[in-house]
Amino acid sequence: MDKRMRTSREGSLLAAALLTGGLLGQTALPPCPAAPAGYEQKLWERAWQLHHQATVVDTHVDTTSLVLDRAFDMGPRARTGHVDLPRAAEGGLDAVFYSIYVDTRFYGDEAALFANPPMTVNEDWPRPKDPGTANGSAKRALMMIDGLLRTCERYPERMTACTSSAELRAAVKAGRHAALMGIEGGHAIEGDLGLLRLFHKLGVRYMTLTHTLHNEFADSCAPAEPRWGGLNTLGVKVVQEMNRLGVMVDVSHVSDATFFDTLRVTRTPVICSHSSMRALCGHKRNITDDMLRALAANGGVVMINYNCGFLDEDYGKNASGRDATRRIQEKSAREKFAEGSPELQNALAKLDERFPPVARPPLSRLIAHILHALEVGGADHVGLGSDFDGVPCVPEGIDDATYLPRITYELLAAGQSEATVKKVLGENLLRVFAAVEDKAFALRGEAPFMNAGAADFAPIAR
Ligand SMILES: [Zn+2]
Repeated sequence: MDKRMRTSREGSLLAAALLTGGLLGQTALPPCPAAPAGYEQKLWERAWQLHHQATVVDTHVDTTSLVLDRAFDMGPRARTGHVDLPRAAEGGLDAVFYSIYVDTRFYGDEAALFANPPMTVNEDWPRPKDPGTANGSAKRALMMIDGLLRTCERYPERMTACTSSAELRAAVKAGRHAALMGIEGGHAIEGDLGLLRLFHKLGVRYMTLTHTLHNEFADSCAPAEPRWGGLNTLGVKVVQEMNRLGVMVDVSHVSDATFFDTLRVTRTPVICSHSSMRALCGHKRNITDDMLRALAANGGVVMINYNCGFLDEDYGKNASGRDATRRIQEKSAREKFAEGSPELQNALAKLDERFPPVARPPLSRLIAHILHALEVGGADHVGLGSDFDGVPCVPEGIDDATYLPRITYELLAAGQSEATVKKVLGENLLRVFAAVEDKAFALRGEAPFMNAGAADFAPIAR
């Protein structure tokens, strides 16, 4: 017993705090399990300790989609998916920006979209007849926010909704999982700066400027044919209004032109919340070395995505070819046989045999992307943005949140310093988050940016 503990009341308070996990974040590390096969025990113990002492932040997790569309409960440990509260705690995943993801299908006829929602996440939402004509995007974002906040309210002892870097650190210190929100993508504001301000009031602290569509103010990396050639006049206002509010600007998913336009006009460092290295895998969702150097010069940070298809070009090609063929054959089987019939079950089982899953890339592939980013961008500009629960495949050896200490081990084994590893695990993102908050404080009193009709859609000077 600690000498400073003078009364039994203090003792029982401490015991209660330990029981509810209230002090675990500060005082106790979870016991180190045996090293995984092939890992050196001493280094594993050092990695485990470092990992659980560090503040680990992931800027892109899609569990919110499961919560909303499948009534997924983050409380108990699940057998599927990547993240829930027990697995986050075991993997030392302290803070997560949960994705307020708005599927591009919502950028259309609202009535059609909400009249016939699909039964599962993977089932197609009905497609709008005329994209962009009547928009259900903001409502979908609001429903996602509601889903996450409901989860936080359901588990107040284990999880806290946070809206600042200080709140994030305080939640982690109290042994609670910090839940934050980032909107993916900018079509959620339906071209309206007022909606951007309201999402900020609800607690949103980053916004990915686009998803896989060109929206009212910015071009995406897909489709390839540009709409604006980067940002338009409204896009500049969106970025600068985000700066004014203290919402981090996220340039994952955008076209290369939008990326460089954004760096020119932002008044704060920006983030790439879930992108990997194009030098190692030529997918346009990844960033080039030149883009990374520009991001580093801006003071920003790239958060490496774990999606197999963004890490390994061969995997991407093989898996997408396989999936396309399988999907066509599955569709015709479903048209031919009744749902739940033995004939359909039989046909699907045969498809599973004929199209076995493509082998996943190993964890070393993800580590290679992190090391390349460190080499090109420097230690201050790299972090983790898994895309957990949002991608069909993650590498072998990083199967869910419980595997995260292996990233720490692998980075130490590759000769990275403990200081660098801590930056990658969370401190770089926290630095950018705090800088964005400071800038918003400095800009307080600045008039809000306002929509201006047709003038907003003018091209910008480059
Ligand atoms: Zn994404």
